[in-house]
Amino acid sequence: MNRQMKANIRENMTRKDVIIIGAGASGLMCAIESGKRGRSVLILDHADKTGKKIRISGGGSCNFTNMNMSHRNFISSNPHFCKSALSRFTPRDIIALLEKHGVDYEEREQGQLFCTKGAQDLTRMLESECNDAGVNIILNCRILDIKKSDLFIVSTDRGIFESESLVIASGGLSYPGSGASGIGHRIANQFGLKLTDIQPALVPFIFHPEDRKILSELSGISIEAAVKCNNMGFRGSILFTHRGLSGPAILQISSYWKRGDAIVIDLLPGTDIYSVFIERQLGKSKIGIHNVLSGFLPLRLARVWCGLEIQSKPVNQYNEKELREIAQKVHNWNIMPESTEGFKTAEVTLGGVDAGELSSKTMESRRVKGLYFTGEVIDVTGQLGGYNLHWAWASGFVAGQYV
Ligand SMILES: Cc1cc2nc3c(=O)[nH]c(=O)nc-3n(C[C@H](O)[C@H](O)[C@H](O)COP(=O)(O)OP(=O)(O)OC[C@H]3O[C@@H](n4cnc5c(N)ncnc54)[C@H](O)[C@@H]3O)c2cc1C
Repeated sequence: MNRQMKANIRENMTRKDVIIIGAGASGLMCAIESGKRGRSVLILDHADKTGKKIRISGGGSCNFTNMNMSHRNFISSNPHFCKSALSRFTPRDIIALLEKHGVDYEEREQGQLFCTKGAQDLTRMLESECNDAGVNIILNCRILDIKKSDLFIVSTDRGIFESESLVIASGGLSYPGSGASGIGHRIANQFGLKLTDIQPALVPFIFHPEDRKILSELSGISIEAAVKCNNMGFRGSILFTHRGLSGPAILQISSYWKRGDAIVIDLLPGTDIYSVFIERQLGKSKIGIHNVLSGFLPLRLARVWCGLEIQSKPVNQYNEKELREIAQKVHNWNIMPESTEGFKTAEVTLGGVDAGELSSKTMESRRVKGLYFTGEVIDVTGQLGGYNLHWAWASGFVAGQYV
């Protein structure tokens, strides 16, 4: 390309201090903070709306943070990476922003905060903050190419833009219907940044076909249970679906599950079912063991579970050892899922840009000056309960102080 051609291209470029790819939670927060510092900021997004995931989060009520916030609520190959951002942007900070805009919120179980009148209150708040901070947003914009010389040059179907700082806030692969794409991982690759293994998380399980044949009969049943896998455990609802298992405790444990692992379900946490069996046995009860269990579990589940795991007969026909073994199975039901439902229904992406590639203080790449990553695209994955959005706010906030 000759000098004249280069000069012509430069003339048609729009110059900004900061370009952010992605108008989701972390991109909008980063834009607001950098705009407030007087930086000229442009957000580019291929979606037709800002914050599409925010709008569908928490069943439309957006569980935007959690009052119990610790680095222990996050999974990352570097568990310390998130600490700095979490300490500089706390649940109180996002609450203060909501209160400034008169957005109603409420605390539900386990410290989870939701928008009382719906998630669109939050996207309106973020758009208004962007407006006040002078942020430009271009939606329906396809990113065609990114190059770096002294500046970043971003070619799109809506023009060519250049900037000193480029922020990749394009999220992970989960829920492609809401605009997710692999662009953030591709850009990381392009600039030589390492990625960790990527897999869907906070996602329902699918049973093996032979289990599905039997267990699909339980579709719609929900119980309180405790679920364990790989030294992690959660207590909460589990829901049998026509394909497998879902519900909050299952989504939580899915983030710790790898193909080939069993999950262990305590169907009656907090109940000493062995003592119940023994009491009935001493009373010479002739009722079937599934009927004893149905005093604690839905009858359909008790019947199907007994059919699968034991031979149900009247309680007085078992000896103590057998009753102990059955109780043990009730509290430790092993299920080997075939797979998860995948990125299509996963709430988040586990893994992403290796935390070792980024400064935990600024989110800037250690290799490429001016290149930042925020939110879900980084290898920091929150548990269920408002932690993923909080990570998006916190990482966007800190990057916004430096871009
Ligand atoms: C159904 C569902 C419910 C959820 N509920 C909750 C909840 O209640 N609480 C919680 O904490 N978390 C929840 N999450 C997770 C949370 O929404 C995300 O972790 C969070 O929004 C990630 O923010 P982000 O800014 O990193 O990415 P995103 O919010 O995903 O934003 C990325 C942006 O980049 C844009 N983009 C992607 N690819 C391109 C491209 N090629 N070109 C241009 N733009 C692109 C997208 O359109 C999008 O606007 C939920 C997720 C789902 C799917």
